[in-house]
Amino acid sequence: MERIVRPKIEDIPSLAGYAETLQSYNEGCVEGTKKWESSGKLYNLLKESLRAISESHCSFCDGFPLDDTSRETIEHYYPKAKTEYPEKTYDWENLFYCCDKCQSMANKHKPFQVTLKPDDVDYHFDRSLLV
Ligand SMILES: [Zn+2]
Repeated sequence: MERIVRPKIEDIPSLAGYAETLQSYNEGCVEGTKKWESSGKLYNLLKESLRAISESHCSFCDGFPLDDTSRETIEHYYPKAKTEYPEKTYDWENLFYCCDKCQSMANKHKPFQVTLKPDDVDYHFDRSLLV
């Protein structure tokens, strides 16, 4: 798998209008008035854009295509739990297209630092520990 090149949210037509909303949602997550929603219009827009930048491959194990073998999910690289990184819950840079296998593995290894962040400049898939 290649390193993911993540466009700025402002450069994605379907999400550009949500930049401020995502920021205010992050503030709500810190305050405890907002939670991550894994359904709905915004979730689907995020998932579509994340799927596009990872070319439908799981960002962590390179699984492809996800729908055939696994449910598609959005993974928070930095855990969104209130005690960890609630300020990154809706952070575009913190969201990755992910298969449910990697997601449950990630949930057992929070924070998700058993692998490299797939959009880091020096990312190399061969160095991922999940393969
Ligand atoms: Zn995976």
